Amino acid sequence: MAALIRTAKDFRDACAEVRRDGRLALVPTMGFLHAGHQSLIRAANSQAPSVAVTIFVNPTQFGPNEDLARYPRDLEGDLKKCAEAGASFVFAPEDPKEIYPEGFQTYVEPGPLAGPLCGSRRPGHFRGVATVVAKLFALSRADVAFFGEKDFQQLAVIKRLAVDLDLGTQVIGRPTIREHDGLAMSSRNAYLSPEDRQRAVALSKAMAACRSAFADGEREIARLEALAASVLTESGLRVDYAELRRPGDLERPPEATGDTRVFLAAFLGKTRLIDNGPLEG
Ligand code: AMP
Repeated sequence: MAALIRTAKDFRDACAEVRRDGRLALVPTMGFLHAGHQSLIRAANSQAPSVAVTIFVNPTQFGPNEDLARYPRDLEGDLKKCAEAGASFVFAPEDPKEIYPEGFQTYVEPGPLAGPLCGSRRPGHFRGVATVVAKLFALSRADVAFFGEKDFQQLAVIKRLAVDLDLGTQVIGRPTIREHDGLAMSSRNAYLSPEDRQRAVALSKAMAACRSAFADGEREIARLEALAASVLTESGLRVDYAELRRPGDLERPPEATGDTRVFLAAFLGKTRLIDNGPLEG
């Protein structure tokens, strides 16, 4: 099992110590780890001799009616998966006060990249994400940090944050790891009943439908979005959004090109799943 660190001070000290010997890579997570998280840890391992994984279900990125209280947890299993993937140590705060001590009042407010998509559906979400990531970068002073393209908007916000605030940590994005049927791996997949798990494949099917329409010559954004939404609805998912956006600024392009991304969010019961990918490649 990877060594477990429970306090912010011990995490800062452990990071400072390994940084004396070489580069430190950071992999922030909310735990209940799967092969997607492990792929980030392995990528981190290939770039730095020391890899710190953090496991923290960050309360400030959850809305009042979201799943903070029931978010799945399995610290023991996570420690094994971290060790298996080559993590040097794991910071799992014993109490949220380690991150948000008494009197905490300073937040990081991201800009327009946090506006559309999940930003508009989950008010305050990216403010919470940006704040906790800034804190983890400050505590660790990691040379490099790895994030998944599964949360593409989050990755964009964090890349910007690191540059804008001169945090000194390079942010690297990694591809989405999927189940055999195409469903993007997610800790939240654990919420799904067997029937809903079958239906969830509609997210990757909706993306595939957009890709094949694009390959057949469809370039109109609204028609591709309507196509994605119809695939989701027909499988019994409730669409939160089905939008096409440019990868760089997350704006809607005048017409679809190969690097335009399909962004999807949909509910199966109370469970909200997201996915995204480019029209080509
Ligand atoms: P989470 O624990 O959901 O906050 O995710 C922690 C990190 O793992 C984030 O950078 C996610 O984008 C990344 N991640 C989550 N699911 C996947 C996946 N299926 N493939 C690759 N990375 C992922």
